[in-house]
Amino acid sequence: MTDKTVSIDIRKDLFGANEAAASINADIFRKHGLKTFDIMGSVGTGKTLLIESLCIRLAGKYRILMVAGDLATTIDADRVASHGVDTVQINTGTACHLDARMVRYALREIDLGKYQLMFIENVGNLICPAGYPLGVDKKIVVLSITEGPYMVKKHPLTIKRSDMVVINKIDLADVLEFDVDALVNDVREVDAKLQVFKVSSKTGDGLDELIDALEL
Ligand code: MG
Ligand code: ZN
Repeated sequence: MTDKTVSIDIRKDLFGANEAAASINADIFRKHGLKTFDIMGSVGTGKTLLIESLCIRLAGKYRILMVAGDLATTIDADRVASHGVDTVQINTGTACHLDARMVRYALREIDLGKYQLMFIENVGNLICPAGYPLGVDKKIVVLSITEGPYMVKKHPLTIKRSDMVVINKIDLADVLEFDVDALVNDVREVDAKLQVFKVSSKTGDGLDELIDALEL
């Protein structure tokens, strides 16, 4: 029988390695003067349309790069590319989130000096992407009122780990009889200081306020 047991916290180890990789990314992004945002949220919350809408508004001001994380398809990257934005696809296969090393690997042959702004669309998943910093300026979680009223209550950790919350598809609030302010209050209960934006990527409602808050 051994008198020494070494226990390894695999989760801590994994997360620690990612944090280190994220800080290398942050240095690289900073060196290139790149503003960077990680857009997280479930499948169908409108992450891609939000990025498209922001790109359309900001294309005159910045050279933009979009990185699309997806299990298998290039649908999102193709949509954003249709607006003349350069895109990089990361197909994660079975991985349900992007991590910092995946992002760096995907960008290894890209001349980041050509760009001033980068949006990363994370894999559609409300849970683990928030736990993996990518080295970006802000992690933004996109919620959609079509997901029902309990997204914040059921995912407080994701909210806590985000720098900003976007409540999307507010144009549907009346039809769905959805109390958007109640969802805002749920966010405030998790973190009273977190910025929350009510947005419709479709109609453009709230986008100017969001762009101001992103200092873009
Ligand atoms: Mg998408
Ligand atoms: Zn995951």
